Amino acid sequence: MKRIILIVMLSIPVAAWAFFKPVRIVAPELAGLSCLDDTLCIDDLSRTREAAKLYDEALQFVDASVGAIENKPRVIFCSSDACSESFNLGNRAGMTIGTFGIVINSRGWKPFYVRHEMIHHLQNEQLGMFAAWTKPKWFFEGMAYSLSEDPRSKLSEPFEQYRSQFERWYTSVGKERIWSEARHL
Ligand SMILES: [Zn+2]
Repeated sequence: MKRIILIVMLSIPVAAWAFFKPVRIVAPELAGLSCLDDTLCIDDLSRTREAAKLYDEALQFVDASVGAIENKPRVIFCSSDACSESFNLGNRAGMTIGTFGIVINSRGWKPFYVRHEMIHHLQNEQLGMFAAWTKPKWFFEGMAYSLSEDPRSKLSEPFEQYRSQFERWYTSVGKERIWSEARHL
């Protein structure tokens, strides 16, 4: 019995932690954010137009040049460090959790960063939430950096290598077969 109690006690913080971030993304109001609708949340309402423009442009871009997004993602735009920290973003410009949502930090308010995260959302829709752990990283990150048209001519490693590897693969596979081929990776 004691042992069972100990196991339960030890597993609670882990379970709570695993649950914590998706809960914030599913219910951003709980984190003090304003949601304009199901898809757009923000911590600084004075930047709503800018966020909405970034959102619409990225969605149209990904739909047209990468693949059709089935369900429009929820995107949370953080202007303050406190907002980014509440999602544990670290130094990342953005983060996508499954198909629950996307968080963009203060330096991620750029078209290619929002497109990058929307490509991750599309990958999760097409391949399932767990594919990011089971499939090669060069595919996930290389695709997001390449097809978002990230303007940086040289990325920090390993991302530069991931991008080149993806581009070689994509040239041989082509846009039409991207998901069917990705399922075999
Ligand atoms: Zn990424």
